[in-house]
Amino acid sequence: MEPLLIGRYAEIALKGGNRADFERALARAARRLLPGGSRVELRGSRLLARLPAGLPAEAGLAALRRCFGLVRIEPSWRLPCPADLADITGEAVAAARRAAQAGASSFKIDARRADKTFPLTSPELNRSLGAAVAAATGLRVDVHHPDVAIGVDVRDDAVYVSGAGVPGPGGLPTGSAGRAMALLSGGIDSPVAAYLAAKRGCRLSAAYFHTPPYTGEGTRQKVEDLAAALARYTGDVRLWIVPFTAAQLAVQRAVPEPLRTLVVRRLMVRIAEGLCRRDRAGALVTGDSLGQVASQTLESLAAVGEVADLPLLRPLVGADKVEIVAVARRIGTYDISIRPFDDCCTVFAPQRPRTRPTRLEVRDAEAALGAGAAALVADAVAGSQRLRVTPDGVATDAPTAPGEAGAGEVPAAGAGDVARRG
Ligand code: ATP
Ligand code: MG
Repeated sequence: MEPLLIGRYAEIALKGGNRADFERALARAARRLLPGGSRVELRGSRLLARLPAGLPAEAGLAALRRCFGLVRIEPSWRLPCPADLADITGEAVAAARRAAQAGASSFKIDARRADKTFPLTSPELNRSLGAAVAAATGLRVDVHHPDVAIGVDVRDDAVYVSGAGVPGPGGLPTGSAGRAMALLSGGIDSPVAAYLAAKRGCRLSAAYFHTPPYTGEGTRQKVEDLAAALARYTGDVRLWIVPFTAAQLAVQRAVPEPLRTLVVRRLMVRIAEGLCRRDRAGALVTGDSLGQVASQTLESLAAVGEVADLPLLRPLVGADKVEIVAVARRIGTYDISIRPFDDCCTVFAPQRPRTRPTRLEVRDAEAALGAGAAALVADAVAGSQRLRVTPDGVATDAPTAPGEAGAGEVPAAGAGDVARRG
């Protein structure tokens, strides 16, 4: 009898010809998250993980709960074949006893006979094991709402008996969708947006626009900690620290106040696209939520989004703040986000941002920056520093190769914007 963890996946199993690619990505992601020395294999639409001897199942459960692609993880025991009914009954009783110790008072047996040469059918197994477990443990059978469902999977190579499982995060395995560049401020929203893009299979790069001395090192530290929190799910995050003070000041000098935030956002998008080229990222991700602030009205989103060549993902577009906060708490970013540091100085936030700008207005406002705008973008890209962030924090300062800047033509004319928050 060998302990192991069984990870179940749902959406991947529905994939057609490229299912194997998703499964490989899932196995890679699980290996990366599990403690060193763990073994991972895929079998019969399940992921089997064996921990190094002596490690408690909880260590593996905690890791796999952060493995995108898994919908459920179950501590399990493997009986090598040939296993007879007595062996299986013994394991099912042991699993029920463990569940009872953890507080369960009712159970059901969920048997599946994939090996049709086994003498009992699935319903017969359910009945026989159910009666034996009830007699041995005193637990009540409840087929509709059991405290624990004990899985019994009879395969031709082995029988797997599983106890109470925990939900996985769902989604698709990290890396199966390529890489995305999340615009990561120190706020509550953008880490949740990055998490949701990652949940659909994106590896993460992140760009933080830093405006010293107007924003302090506390904010930068927050962003590093947020990236580390995200890395617990995705593996290493590449975090770009973008020097953004010159751009902010240039906008403040040249652009009418109500439209400044939108012009700033357009510069951010161009710079982030320049960094995407460095990282081979195929999309941008922001924490915009429709109507949340002036820069997130449809008109404002249009005026910013028009400068993006890459898809600009806004996973929070339909989410309310309470929903965003609930996710932030669950994934462990909330407590970092609410640390008291501003994500951009009040110096730069307009008193009366435009809420319904036309694109033309915003282009005109931006044109006030003149030919210098392209240089602002190019300099910010060239001056950005890339950090490798692991779940434990910043690992190394990867030097940045000189690359092309993300300039693009600078349109003109503008309109207004926004508030901020933290
Ligand atoms: P958040 O909680 O993510 O800061 P927010 O509601 O405060 O969101 P805004 O300040 O309007 O939103 O910014 C909208 C989005 O623009 C953010 O979610 C983020 O993706 C991006 N963004 C804003 N400021 C920065 C910054 N300094 N660095 C990186 N991205 C930023
Ligand atoms: Mg913000």
